[in-house]
Amino acid sequence: MKSFAGVAASPGYAYGPAHRLGQNIIVPERCVVANTEVPQQIERFKSAVDLAKQQIEKLVERLNLELGPGEADILSAQLLILEDEMVWDATLAVIRLERINAEAAFARAVGDIAARFLEMENETFRERVNDLHDVEQRVLRAFQGSEEVSLDLPAVPSIIVATNLTPSDTATLGRTNVLGFLMEEGGNTSHVAILARSIGVPAVVGLKSFLGIVDSADPIAVDGNTGIFIADPDNETINEFRRLQADALVKCEKLASLRDLDPITPDGHRIRLMANIELPVEVDEALARGAEGIGLLRTEYLYFQHNNIPTEDEQTSIYSDLIKTMAGKPVIFRTLDVGGDKVSDYLGAKREYNPFLGWRGIRFSLANRSLFRNQLKAICRAAVAGPVKIMFPMISGVQELRQAKEIYLEAVAELESEGKDFHHDLDLGIMVETPSAVLVADLLAAECDFFSIGSNDLIQYTLAMDRGNARVSYLYQPLHPSILRAIKTTVEAAHRAGIWVGLCGEMGSETRLAEVLLGLGLDEISLHGAALPKVKQVIRWTTLEEAEALVEKLMNAATAEEANQWLAQYIQDRKDKRQNKEY
Ligand code: PEP
Ligand code: MG
Repeated sequence: MKSFAGVAASPGYAYGPAHRLGQNIIVPERCVVANTEVPQQIERFKSAVDLAKQQIEKLVERLNLELGPGEADILSAQLLILEDEMVWDATLAVIRLERINAEAAFARAVGDIAARFLEMENETFRERVNDLHDVEQRVLRAFQGSEEVSLDLPAVPSIIVATNLTPSDTATLGRTNVLGFLMEEGGNTSHVAILARSIGVPAVVGLKSFLGIVDSADPIAVDGNTGIFIADPDNETINEFRRLQADALVKCEKLASLRDLDPITPDGHRIRLMANIELPVEVDEALARGAEGIGLLRTEYLYFQHNNIPTEDEQTSIYSDLIKTMAGKPVIFRTLDVGGDKVSDYLGAKREYNPFLGWRGIRFSLANRSLFRNQLKAICRAAVAGPVKIMFPMISGVQELRQAKEIYLEAVAELESEGKDFHHDLDLGIMVETPSAVLVADLLAAECDFFSIGSNDLIQYTLAMDRGNARVSYLYQPLHPSILRAIKTTVEAAHRAGIWVGLCGEMGSETRLAEVLLGLGLDEISLHGAALPKVKQVIRWTTLEEAEALVEKLMNAATAEEANQWLAQYIQDRKDKRQNKEY
């Protein structure tokens, strides 16, 4: 048994077998075969392709069951490649003419096709190269009779182990059989961390090379509260983890009784607690935990589940289903926020040298006017099904806000001229997540209906720390004086202009920060369903006056460390007063 420390990215305890994703790139050995063996090699190729196809079909079926029809498109595209004549002809030609073994012939054929695609002018061909390589690895594994593929869902409840997962990987992975996550890379606001919190499983990220010792099926344990992972845990450790899980369950059941109570302080101050949602499958859970609506719908995840840009009609139907499930509770649609670590080949947002300072968020949408307009049209059409607001990501100044609003007006005009049924007077708000937006918050507040502070990016940009880089994750400091001042400035600017202001970054899911956010004057917190009952509990325990006094004290701290210590002491004193009741 050995234990290793990483970044605690999502709380909870799990133990079970590891399930490795994206490991072992197979490079087949090349050997010359006798003329007489050629038919046998061709048969081997056919069988491997058949096996790979069966595996993909099985996965598509499971994904459809779990996430609904249409969500398995990424994998369906791979089926088409396996039926492509070009792949077949090229492989058979190499086997016959060069007389080499089937796997080497197949890899050579795919390599040649990929090289030709990469040289082409046409973007679509270049984008197919990733799919080709994915399929190549899948077939090469099938040659070895292996079931394991890079996006294979775990067949039994497992802890997912990988270098890192892209948002499209996590969208495909879903939640079935996922007990937790261990990642070599990433910080606590990277997207795997966010997904783990939203489905309520533990995650430890930033484990660097420690994960090299873990293979699929190895027994491991994850403590997401302290950021520890244990390889080959002994019986005593497993028993301890069982006990910790049981305790957490009891606490969770106790908190369930809060579901229908208001998030209101003892001195009568009410704030709204909303849910952050990536995928529609998370909505039921959020409602069950008492969410008053969706404060952040990360719409890009709906795009990542498709391998083509969803049409206006398709989006309208997905959005309206979601709004109907909310049964009258409001939904804030954040428009497409790709770029940064959320790249998607088919959308054309690519990896960049400096991705978080690159072509992301509203910059991407403003450059892709018709794609943006279509999304806005779909949201307006879906809005006839229930209360909806629109929120623009990564706004840095008034010019971008005005341009986004102009495209919104174009969308409205188009819908009008098409005679479609839609809602045309939606509230338009912005994410305040760049330091620039904070500094011009007064100007922005005069031209929009609400603010929601994206603390993940706000911390990243203010403290100049890449949110996905484990080496600088120690700089994720929500209580840094610059962050507290940035939030305060934003709240004051919003209130002076008479608009409401929420916060939808990961800070909102940290129970220890609930009183701080209350005292800073936020009107709404949007957070993960799993964290909602605890945060509500804290709000119901704390008067606004106490929270404001706490913030006043924290605002005097010169460093984040000082503020953290003061907060920890304050929480301890409160616990003592409440006879040690848990936070
Ligand atoms: C944020 O930046 O705080 C936020 C909520 O947006 P995302 O995490 O999707 O960038
Ligand atoms: Mg953001």
